[in-house]
Amino acid sequence: MLAERYPYYLANRPRQPNAELAVTHKYSGEVVTHVAVADAAAVEEAIAAAVRAAEPMRKLAPYARQAVLEHCVRRFRERAEELALALCIEAGKPLRDARGEVDRLIDTFKAAAEEAVRGGGEVLNLEVSKRAAGYRGFTQRVPVGPCSFITPFNFPLNLVAHKVAPAIAAGCPFILKPSDRTPVSALIMAEILAETELPEGAFSVLPVRLEDIGPLIEDDRLKLLSFTGSEKVGWELKARAGRKKVVLELGGNAACVVDEAPGAPLDFIADRVAQGAFFQAGQSCISVQRVLVHASLYDALREKLVERAKALRPGHPSDEATTLGPMIDEPAARRLEGWIQQAVQRGARVLAGGGRRGSVLDATVLEGVPEDASLSSEEAFGPVVLLQPFDSFDEALAQVNSGRFGLQAGLFTQDLSRAMKAWDELEVGGVVVGDVPSFRVDTMPYGGVKGSGIGREGVKYAIEDMTELRLLVLRQA
Ligand code: NAD
Repeated sequence: MLAERYPYYLANRPRQPNAELAVTHKYSGEVVTHVAVADAAAVEEAIAAAVRAAEPMRKLAPYARQAVLEHCVRRFRERAEELALALCIEAGKPLRDARGEVDRLIDTFKAAAEEAVRGGGEVLNLEVSKRAAGYRGFTQRVPVGPCSFITPFNFPLNLVAHKVAPAIAAGCPFILKPSDRTPVSALIMAEILAETELPEGAFSVLPVRLEDIGPLIEDDRLKLLSFTGSEKVGWELKARAGRKKVVLELGGNAACVVDEAPGAPLDFIADRVAQGAFFQAGQSCISVQRVLVHASLYDALREKLVERAKALRPGHPSDEATTLGPMIDEPAARRLEGWIQQAVQRGARVLAGGGRRGSVLDATVLEGVPEDASLSSEEAFGPVVLLQPFDSFDEALAQVNSGRFGLQAGLFTQDLSRAMKAWDELEVGGVVVGDVPSFRVDTMPYGGVKGSGIGREGVKYAIEDMTELRLLVLRQA
């Protein structure tokens, strides 16, 4: 059960003004709770508090930052089922997926607790020429200062964790604006953060209406904007972000290549593609959207994938048997249904699914989708996968690189030289060989190129963005 209302957290403390935002159950559409909404004055207060907290946060000893993160890990474990239920209700995630996200939240904070006490500097030999004889260099990483974080609806806890946990490890105060569609789990996290010894002002978690959000993007007292969300919004915000560093974790239409191979493990590949395409109702930035299959394997893999798509059980997310939950809302499901219809009008064939009930779209497999269909070039962000045969490996790589996104790509091959070629030539942030592009663990560097963003998350790499390198030069007399 959710609480009747949730306060926001400003400078580490709960506050419950009159202005509230209704949060709906994403399956039934009913209003299930309300969260407090911060106005422009509250946003200004949070920024001023974060600026004041920059020095105390910088000085907070690594072991103390680690203790904060470890406290969170303990409390997340104790409240795991409550957090999973909040995700199930506010994001419509099947319970088993919601529990998986809570496990990953814990992994992310555990990794940050380890990073918090790692030094991370270098000793540099500066004696590169005679004039530098006797000089040595040292680097350390210092926190950038107050950060602004904006997060999406699809992993309302773990994507928040990917900003919050590294910020604490790095020693940066932060203001987080969670998605207005899924703010509850982030506010429960804030409640747990408020139990810690973080310096006053070190964190604020504020649902904010878009008309009041400007300073979180534009104010130069904030030194980093880290945004996870859609391509369109992300690049717009970067243009308004002034002098601050900007990290953008945006969308994609990830492709997976299935190369020719005698005895290819097609059952395993079909299992992984189905999981990668339909997990979370396809609402993952690395959901498998395009599967390029060598012509020799195409018919066999198609049959297996269609079987798996048809075996999924759409339904209420809190029913333990449900394996396909709703999309975030009915307009999102209607949008994707429209794209399926457009592809069909232009010659595509629906092999499985295609139907919709409210916000639940069936797991859908299509083939013959023409290049000019939205499904080929846009981000589907739903349970839809496109199959396409290829004859030459080079042609498949070119297909992966076509279009404006570049987050991760998957490749099933038994040829090491092809794996290396793909790693060299694919224009993406990461290539996954032996699995689908949807593979992610929370310590790996993760992020995109081209339209998919700039910068990397994955705890250690986020800390790099949240810190500046500071050099010390020593001349030995
Ligand atoms: P969205 O861009 O609509 O919203 C993301 C956040 O930005 C929300 O908090 C929203 O309230 C806020 N926002 C929206 N318009 C804004 C504006 N004009 N100014 C300031 N803030 C604004 O994205 P979404 O629908 O919540 O999430 C889905 C998108 O996120 C997909 O494109 C998906 O691929 C992407 N995503 C990327 C990653 C990644 O790591 N690369 C991870 C998850 C989701």
